[in-house]
Amino acid sequence: MKENYHTHTFRCGHATGSEEEMILGAMEGGFTTLGMSCHIPLPNFRKHLLRGVPYLSSFDNAKTLFRWFCFNGLGTRMPYPSKKEHLSIIKELKEKYKDQITIYQGFEAEYFEEYLDYYQSLLDNQEVDYLILGNHFHKICCDACYNGFALDKEGIENYGKDACLAMETGLYSYFCHPDLFMAETVEFDETCVQITRDICTCAIKNNIPLEINEGGFRRGIKKIGNQTRLPYPHDEFWKIVGEMGAPVVLGLDSHNPNEFSKKEVADLENYAKKMNLTVIPSFEFKKGKKKDC
Ligand SMILES: [Zn+2]
Ligand SMILES: [Zn+2]
Repeated sequence: MKENYHTHTFRCGHATGSEEEMILGAMEGGFTTLGMSCHIPLPNFRKHLLRGVPYLSSFDNAKTLFRWFCFNGLGTRMPYPSKKEHLSIIKELKEKYKDQITIYQGFEAEYFEEYLDYYQSLLDNQEVDYLILGNHFHKICCDACYNGFALDKEGIENYGKDACLAMETGLYSYFCHPDLFMAETVEFDETCVQITRDICTCAIKNNIPLEINEGGFRRGIKKIGNQTRLPYPHDEFWKIVGEMGAPVVLGLDSHNPNEFSKKEVADLENYAKKMNLTVIPSFEFKKGKKKDC
């Protein structure tokens, strides 16, 4: 593994490491290509957050929403006013290190319908080279809509629907941690099997690779219901991916300059081998819908 397209910086508020520190970390880890993919900065984000107020179901939910509102998303994503500086720093660093490493500008983005035109404009204006799908939330960025918590049938179905709708847009070059819905969901039941099959069908049809994500290994083995396992990757999900032959990529999801280690690369490569998955050597950057002339 010499390429990694899933890299965060301190600008998301939950990662450490500047743009340059992450690039140096990747070079030290022996990487020759690096894609920068902070959680996407969203314009008018406070207005978006307010749409989550009716969904608040606990004091903790309210506290998180209030914090994100105060800091314009910091903690969960890059605040919109930081975007300009981030893009210009990456441009400079791309030039500075061009003989040592190839750098691409990307963002990790949810499927939020209200922002699809914005995503398209980032690709059209060449502000970014690519976007990757991080299906963290259903419709609204708030804890009550977080797909990494235990989901009920409706939550799992929404996860599957959002993923397929997103893949149909042509905006996303690959799908990060597609098994996030199993992070705290206990049983991989019929609904889970069905949405996994739907995700694979959609990924094959649109030629969108599914990512085995290192973030789950980093979080470590936990007790989930009566099971002791990693939050992700989830074996039953990847078994179906292997059977259906959907394309697969590896992603470090680095949140710190040390997260390009040999051990982490081995986690991903060994998992792919164990599950008999074929990792594709490269993938294309999707550019969304072509503009009419
Ligand atoms: Zn993510
Ligand atoms: Zn990420």
